[in-house]
Amino acid sequence: MVNVLVTGGAGYIGSHCCKELHNKGYNPITFDNLVYGHRENVKWGNFYKGDIGNLKDLETFFEKYKIDAVIHFAAYAYVGESITDPQKYYLNNLQNTINLLHHLLKNNIKYFIFSSTCATYGNPNRIPIDEDHPRSPINPYGRSKKMIEDILEDYNRAYGLKFVSLRYFNAAGADPDGETGENHDPETHLIPLVLDVAAGKSEAQVFGTDYDTKDGSCIRDYIHVSDLASAHVLALERLMNEGSSSFFNLGTGLGHSVLEVIETASEITGKEIPLKVTSRRPGDPPVLVASNEKAINELGWKPEYTSLEDIIRTAWNWHKRP
Ligand code: UDP
Repeated sequence: MVNVLVTGGAGYIGSHCCKELHNKGYNPITFDNLVYGHRENVKWGNFYKGDIGNLKDLETFFEKYKIDAVIHFAAYAYVGESITDPQKYYLNNLQNTINLLHHLLKNNIKYFIFSSTCATYGNPNRIPIDEDHPRSPINPYGRSKKMIEDILEDYNRAYGLKFVSLRYFNAAGADPDGETGENHDPETHLIPLVLDVAAGKSEAQVFGTDYDTKDGSCIRDYIHVSDLASAHVLALERLMNEGSSSFFNLGTGLGHSVLEVIETASEITGKEIPLKVTSRRPGDPPVLVASNEKAINELGWKPEYTSLEDIIRTAWNWHKRP
């Protein structure tokens, strides 16, 4: 059995990935400090409570488990907060990841899958965004991820650490069996916030309708979290089958505007979703859409949820659980 350390396995994308690993015959072991993760999300494989910022936790963990590969989700991911408190992001996403990599090298673990982001590209100069698009992040969150990508290339060259860096576009939706889903606190993402409105909890804010897009609101590429999960397992298999280190965009290749998301959510929930248009949120590029050809061709990945309806439907089924 291949033992896969999943840092952040109690989180949103991490827990979906543990399910996929388990279903494909791997043994996921979640390492999570439960600051943002939830113990009840750890349903596939063992759980170890620990912090990647705590060297003793890492040491004890690697003494206990013989690990073959690492999938590293544990990170902070609030773009706005990264601007007001960059140190928090550089300490956790950068320094603590370097600590984790130290333990990989020490324990001769050769395979590393990294959670990266389309925020490494910054404001794109062409759409769709392919992997060769220049990376020029516009916030500390994106910079912290780009820095780790650069470090991984150095470690690959110097130490033979094999890695795949997966650049997610907008993760959305929930496990179709309802076994795990999105549960952020605070929640800042569009789809769960809009579903809160449908559930009668608040009013939706649209951050700007004066962009140069078809309806004036921002366009994003929403990718189902179970499709992200399957890409991680394919990336791991590619590495273990002697594939070389690489970078992949993970998106559907389709763009949907904020207003389209709200309209679709209204249709699926059968609720009116009153909205309030406010000013632009700083740091939001007008359009982010992935070219996913490389992942399709080289990983053999095939996103299953290519319609916004299907993605929002799974999110709603999770959102309205008792
Ligand atoms: N957005 C919005 N209202 C909200 C939250 C988000 O209009 O309450 C917009 C945001 O400006 C962006 C899109 O929805 O264009 C997706 O934002 P989200 O925070 O979900 O993901 P991001 O693209 O920042 O990773």
